[in-house]
Amino acid sequence: MSLIFSSSFCTMRVLHILVVLMELSQVRTMSLYFGQALDSAEAFDEHSSYFEADILAGSVVTKMAVRDNHKLWDGGQVPYKLDFDPTSPDNVYVHDNIMAAIAAINAVGCVSIYEANMETDVVNIRLDVDYSSYVGRQGGVQNLTVSSDNSNIGTIMHELMHTLGFGHEHNRADRDDFIIIQWDNIKDEAKPYFQKYTEESGFTDHDISYDYESLMHATNQKNEDIFIDLNKPIITRLDGSTSVGQRSHLTEKDVERIIAAYSCGICEDAPDNTLFRYPGDCHKYYQCDQHHAVARICSADLHFHVEANYCDYPWLADCTEMS
Ligand SMILES: [Zn+2]
Repeated sequence: MSLIFSSSFCTMRVLHILVVLMELSQVRTMSLYFGQALDSAEAFDEHSSYFEADILAGSVVTKMAVRDNHKLWDGGQVPYKLDFDPTSPDNVYVHDNIMAAIAAINAVGCVSIYEANMETDVVNIRLDVDYSSYVGRQGGVQNLTVSSDNSNIGTIMHELMHTLGFGHEHNRADRDDFIIIQWDNIKDEAKPYFQKYTEESGFTDHDISYDYESLMHATNQKNEDIFIDLNKPIITRLDGSTSVGQRSHLTEKDVERIIAAYSCGICEDAPDNTLFRYPGDCHKYYQCDQHHAVARICSADLHFHVEANYCDYPWLADCTEMS
């Protein structure tokens, strides 16, 4: 499958401001963040109020997964380091939430976000006033910021999804078949966040159908920075209902999307997901293990018997069939 950002996209900066759909009892006002200088290509910024917007060099980037393999993390392995003292009493709560968010993503069993050792491509997790993340692997050290004031596990998961290479659901090219953006209730400065992806945006939906409840969908959480009238929604479904997005959990389709982007759900060439041939070496075979194809070696000099699909005596498992 192809997963990538278009090259023009790679050179652009993305600013992503988001309506964080947190169960906050207080409404926090904050200013939007357009045009903030960021070190490299695309970045998403999730503000700790309730709004989210993705702006890349003045245009909007939308959700789904990057189409460029170089934006994905090799083998789904994502090293991180903490740019703060997790033992400081002020940071214990937010640190716990970050660890819980990482655990929730890792629980999918497809990607692994782990404490960095000597890796060069690393996610540097910082505390800041707002949430932010780049979309996909940038190369080198890339920041992911978490609001220390409004720490929320689901919102941190949302950021980690951006880091893994996913954009927003409500920006999908086909979104008008599912939702109506209530432009009349959206402030001008927030409108870019609701634009649709185009082919040039560089995302793929992996043929996974629209997900109203995605962790990556914008919500109707009231936000003075976005809403003109706080008593009216900014997004409705075609049937008029207003339940969209959430910031608490990965939906089934969010999980499907991770599995599709990182190829965890498929062992290609293994129709029944069991054993299959290893090209050019009849002592070896592949086994599908946790959705990954893992090379194995037949014991006792046996050869892999392609037709029978197991290791057998060399004279029974004709090596020429492996060529
Ligand atoms: Zn976002």
